[in-house]
Formats: sequence, structure tokens, C-alpha cells
Amino acid sequence: MYRNFAIVPKIIFGRGAFNQLGDILREKRTTPDSYVVFIIDDVFEGAPLESRIPLEDKDFLLRVNVDEEPKTTLIDSLVGQIRAYHPVKPDGVIGIGGGSVLDIAKAVSLMLNNPGSSADYQGWDLIKNPAVYHVGVPTLAGTGAEISRTTILTGPEKKLGINSDYTIYDQILLDPELIADVPKDQWFYTGMDCFIHDVESLNGTFLNEFSKAYGEKSLELCRQVFLEDHLDKDDKLMMASYFGGMSIAYSQVGACHALSYGLSFVLGIHHGIGCCIAFDYLEDIYPEGVREFRQMMEHHNISLPRNLTTDMSPEDLDRMVTTALNLEPLWENCLGSDWRNLMTHERALEIYKRM
Ligand code: NAD
Ligand code: ZN
Repeated sequence: MYRNFAIVPKIIFGRGAFNQLGDILREKRTTPDSYVVFIIDDVFEGAPLESRIPLEDKDFLLRVNVDEEPKTTLIDSLVGQIRAYHPVKPDGVIGIGGGSVLDIAKAVSLMLNNPGSSADYQGWDLIKNPAVYHVGVPTLAGTGAEISRTTILTGPEKKLGINSDYTIYDQILLDPELIADVPKDQWFYTGMDCFIHDVESLNGTFLNEFSKAYGEKSLELCRQVFLEDHLDKDDKLMMASYFGGMSIAYSQVGACHALSYGLSFVLGIHHGIGCCIAFDYLEDIYPEGVREFRQMMEHHNISLPRNLTTDMSPEDLDRMVTTALNLEPLWENCLGSDWRNLMTHERALEIYKRM
């Protein structure tokens, strides 16, 4: 059975496109009394971007901190704040930030129309009702969260996305000017998330011409961004992120993402840097990709944290391995249907111990 693949229906791309956000929302504002919720990364508090938000009288601005990756408790609390602000649902939820804020806005828009806690919906296609109209405005590029059908949340029991067609943004606004001031290390880590999406998709057993077309273009753009110098590198990275997201959406990620989930769940390491840390130990699986990754690190003078697992207890190491190996489709994409014989508990443990 082939997947019937839903994608974001409306996209604006271009420098300065953020100025069109007000026009886009005007069409969605139903009555003079209605309002829109803007969820923005608190890194922009007092910054010029925040003052450019097309905020109208009754709109609600929610600043969120993403020092920790999004939790289900945060989503439930934000939904509570919106309900307390106004008994009527908003006409829209607009997320402005990196992958974390994009995921938060997706989850909030879903939970405004679905009862219970966001933790109840971690999984595949558990959401019953469509989300409130939602718009994503990335300020960092690489995760592909702008195009994906998931919002990755850490819940009481697991780190797992709310995967559903309703999660997908109704509109995204890709303005390369918004990623110009990202600190260098963060720019690199999140950009490498995209590069690794491409490598894992293109080297996976689930590869097909659809994923290949997007993955190859994304990889070409990543090479231009991270190994060459181009004035329009921000435009290129934004499109690389989108194409990388399209590529994995119709195939799958692989070993690096599986191992990075273990790092994140047990050590709280963020997605982008966690992928970089894990990828550096996967030369056996992705020789060409890891070689290029190291060139990119050198080109940008990036060094990664080491000795992360030296002092860990055997129990915690085991938890990391179990978290990683539970991601069965990722391993199957990476190593084929015989993956259990190829990526044993011992082998995964050895890789973690080297980190
Ligand atoms: P992020 O959103 O976690 O942000 C990283 C840091 O960069 C934060 O401190 C943030 O405040 C800062 N930042 C963001 N934009 C900035 C800007 N323009 N200028 C200065 N600082 C800025 O980072 P990310 O790598 O984009 O996203 C990681 C998150 O995305 C994780 O929570 C991960 O689980 C999620 N993710 C989701 C998907 C998906 O498909 N839904 C895919 C991959 C990752
Ligand atoms: Zn990723």
C-alpha cells in the first residue's frame, strides 16, 4: 500500500515575506471580535522581529522558552492559557521560531480542538478533530518541521510525536532573512539535521524516486551552504530544509536519528546537536556522509562535546540502547529487514560507549 501523502497546501517563500503575514491572516479573521494567537520563541523578546508581528487589538502573544525541548505539559499549559484568555477559540495559531516552536504551535492548534491532554495523542493518527488554522514561520532551518506531519513531544512516558494529517501546517511562510542572525553553532547543528535527513533517506532501503528527487536536491543545497560560500546561503538552507523534510516524509530517517533519540531521552540532548554527536560515530554505516560531515565541521570550525557517556551507569546506557532500538522503522530503513541481526544490543551499546 502506498501512502496517501498530505503536504502543506500554502507556501510563501522569499526575503521579506514576513511582511505579508498580516495580509494572510486578514482573510482568516472572521469577525471584528475574533483573535489570533502568536506563539514566538522568547529569544526574540524585545528584538525587531517581535515588533513586526501584525498584532491586532484582541490578539494574544505567547512567548515560549525552548531551553528544553517541548513537553506535553507545556502544550497543555499553553492551551489552558488560551482558554483562560478567551472562551471562544482563536481564528489562528501562528508559530514563529525554530523546530521547537514550530512543533509547539502545531500541538497547540491540535489541542484547541481535541479533548484531554496532548500526551493522549502521542502516536500515529490518534487525533480525531482537525486543528485550528495554523501557520508556521521558521526562524532556523534544517529540521523540516515546517513540512512534516508530526510534532515531537516529550510526555510522561515517552518521547513521541503526534503524527497526523491534521498536524500539518495550513500555511508556511519561509523568509530567509529570519535565519540570518542564528548563532553559528546552532545554525550548524540544525543545518546538519537536514544534511543527515538527506544522507539517511538516500542511503536507506525505503528509498524511492520521490524521496530521491527531494533528497538529492537538498543534499546539493547543503553542500553549497556548508562547503562553499554563497551570498544567498540562507535562501538555500531554507529550501534544503523543506526538501529534506519532503524526502524523509516519503521514506524514513535511519541509524543516526535512532541513536540521537536515545541521547535526547536519557541525557536531554537537543535534536540537532544530538544528531551531530551520533553521526560522527557512524562511519561504518554512512562512510561518504560522515566524511563530508567532518569536512563541514572543519570548514566551520565546529567541535562537538565528547565523553558524554563515560560516567553513565549501565542502567542508563541500557535505557539509551532500548530507546534507540525501539525505533524499528528507522533501523529497517537503514539496514534492511535483517536489521536485528546487524544492530544488536551489544553493537549499539559499543557505539554509545564511544560517544
Ligand atoms: P530550536 O527550535 O530548539 O532552537 C534552538 C535554539 O535556537 C533555541 O535557543 C532558540 O531560542 C534559538 N533560535 C531559534 N531561532 C533563532 C534565531 N533566528 N536567532 C537566534 N536564536 C534562535 O532548534 P531546532 O534545531 O530548529 O529544532 C529542534 C526541535 O525541533 C526539537 O524539539 C526537535 O524535536 C524538533 N524537530 C521536529 C521535527 C518535526 O518534524 N516536527 C523534526 C526534527 C526536529
Ligand atoms: Zn532530524
